[in-house]
Amino acid sequence: MDLYKKTPLKIYNSLSKEKELFTPIHEGKVGMYVCGPTVYSNVHLGNVRTFMSFDMVFRYLKYLGYKVRYVRNITDAGHLENDADVGEDRIAKKARLEEIEPMEVVQRYTVDFHEILKKFNNLPPSIEPTATGHIVEQLEIIKDILDKGFAYVVNGSVYFDVLKYNESENYGVLSGRNIEDSIHNTRVLDGQSEKKNPQDFALWKKASPEHIMRWPSPWSDGFPGWHLECTAMSTKYLGENFDIHGGGMDLKFPHHECEIAQSNCANGKAPVNYWMHANMLTLNGQKMAKSTGNNILPGEIFSGENTILNKPFSPSVTRFFMLQAHYRSNLDFSNAALEASEKGYNKLMQGVALLSSLKTSKQTSIDLESWIKSCHDAMNDDFNTPVLIAHLFEAVKHINLINDGNETISASDLVLFTEMVNAFVFDVLGLLDESVNDNSDKLNGTIALLIQLRKEARENKNWALSDQIRDELLALEIQLKDGKEGTTYTIN
Ligand code: AMP
Ligand code: ZN
Repeated sequence: MDLYKKTPLKIYNSLSKEKELFTPIHEGKVGMYVCGPTVYSNVHLGNVRTFMSFDMVFRYLKYLGYKVRYVRNITDAGHLENDADVGEDRIAKKARLEEIEPMEVVQRYTVDFHEILKKFNNLPPSIEPTATGHIVEQLEIIKDILDKGFAYVVNGSVYFDVLKYNESENYGVLSGRNIEDSIHNTRVLDGQSEKKNPQDFALWKKASPEHIMRWPSPWSDGFPGWHLECTAMSTKYLGENFDIHGGGMDLKFPHHECEIAQSNCANGKAPVNYWMHANMLTLNGQKMAKSTGNNILPGEIFSGENTILNKPFSPSVTRFFMLQAHYRSNLDFSNAALEASEKGYNKLMQGVALLSSLKTSKQTSIDLESWIKSCHDAMNDDFNTPVLIAHLFEAVKHINLINDGNETISASDLVLFTEMVNAFVFDVLGLLDESVNDNSDKLNGTIALLIQLRKEARENKNWALSDQIRDELLALEIQLKDGKEGTTYTIN
């Protein structure tokens, strides 16, 4: 039997602001849309946190036995510098500054995005559509909204009429903002807007002569508004009404509020049953962001090359650090927090490694069924990974006690225990056992070569070189020991 029938999942719905029992539209299947990156610069660790949160959701839904269609878009046009529909297109600006084609910018940062997410062991989505690949669908939605009277044309641009929409629907249903608070950055708009009301948002923008990313439309040569692409692509691949829509907390307003308004007008129904918002990663207590420079890049974590880091940290340690917090909680990044996570991760992996060498007995002294249930309960309570991790540490405690002969486990229970620990650690949390894949053969070979070169240096009385090899290896915590049998080494 599929697990989801036995273990009901509750999801915190940002729309109702309550944990709700998850019931998909089609039994056994889940449609999930997550707003993807705007590919104009390298992803920072904050972006990674949001995508990792939804990777964990994707993994757990699959683990429960659902067939999941996970759609995550690439924003390669239409996202302006300012949410008030003014400023340059972020990608076009980068292309101008670097004197390359916008599509070169898109290609470079899409590749970076994929490589980074793969390092963190995120699974690829089922479909990864792009905004520029769906201009036709976006034009159709604009025509539809215009026909229904909820948009207007000014100087070749088309704007969504928020006040008109709000007469019959609630613009603010998701974010809780009332219409007066919903002004998309009035300061920028003062005296220079062609919109009827500052709350209105662009569905189509006429391109200025120097704007190179442009497409023909009935209203002007231009480009779609940022919010529209997600409505077009989610409707196309998941339907007018689908199960889960996710994104970072900062996308709730205006982006997701606008998506709801667009879909309500175009399709006559609310698009999403469960809205999920992942919370922010902060640095020095402030949100990590591209624009402010208050961010850290994944590459800096892996190399340790950032002044706030004392040493490098691996992708799995970083992933473990992220999943130790609930996806709806704020999480502050620091060297000390990563060091603590590294200890925890190592302890967990040592426990997992011991499983295969445990001795079995006739009886099992631990309550395995209730341990498994508590793991499911944690994840079914709105994907509570910190509580799941606490239960995994309990498992490690039992593993150590069994190993020391102070608790017992039967052969069949050990099979089940191993299967469940592996499922939660590797399939659901998506951690990797980095000791398995540490290129140890290559490392051993390289150190053997250095030992040989040091031996030759000593034979040639080149003490400076032999000392340099020894000291620099020591700095990497690789200690050479000279003995009767030759030189051996230990890695700390
Ligand atoms: P962007 O490429 O700017 O559209 O952002 C891609 C995703 O990263 C969005 O879902 C954002 O909500 C999310 N995001 C941006 N900054 C952070 C942060 N500091 N912590 C967590 N998620 C973030
Ligand atoms: Zn979106």
